[in-house]
Amino acid sequence: MRVVVVEDEALTRRAIALALRQEGFSVSEAADAVGCRAVLSQVRADVIILDLGLPGMDGLSLARELRAAGDAGLIVATREASHEARIQALDTGADDYLVKPIHYGELAARIRSVMRRRGLLQDGRKRLAGWVVDLKARTVTAGDTDAGLTRGEFDVLARLIEAEGKIVGRELLVQGVSRRPEDADLRSVDVLVSRLRRKLGVAGEETLIATAPGFGYRLTRPAESL
Ligand code: CA
Repeated sequence: MRVVVVEDEALTRRAIALALRQEGFSVSEAADAVGCRAVLSQVRADVIILDLGLPGMDGLSLARELRAAGDAGLIVATREASHEARIQALDTGADDYLVKPIHYGELAARIRSVMRRRGLLQDGRKRLAGWVVDLKARTVTAGDTDAGLTRGEFDVLARLIEAEGKIVGRELLVQGVSRRPEDADLRSVDVLVSRLRRKLGVAGEETLIATAPGFGYRLTRPAESL
């Protein structure tokens, strides 16, 4: 999984690259549009993280060029938080949009999400407490039994599995419930988690999903790859 980080501020770029390497990604760095083209002539990128405020070239033009040139996923990172800027970037072809300062854990999760949507993550099936979770087919089964999860319930479970037992904030989980931040209702996450606990719960065993009070949720054990 190769990520290219295009960012002119050296400290920021190195910090992002270091954090992503720790998450298991191969990372190439570029300081501007020229450097980005040079890197892409050498390596194939799965996802490109693009700072919109680059010297010498309007970031959106570069986004357009990258979109036209290849099929790498594109995540735009910028200080500009307005809805207009967000819409413009997404309309240009960005798969996702992050406002600086960037939370590295969130960036890694968004990269995996973009890769999954583009069919680049092949980590398909996981075992979780007697259940088989198929992240591509979006099913949760145990033998002939289907857990019958709704779309929202599955999205929450997938994010928790992605975090491998680390705590996931409710703000991050709610994005699986609603694509539009203004519709986000944190309590809806609590409802989905309680339904998940009921549907996946195994009698006599500890809960699968633990509460981190006032913050979010985590799996009490990571899912194993099959
Ligand atoms: Ca910049």
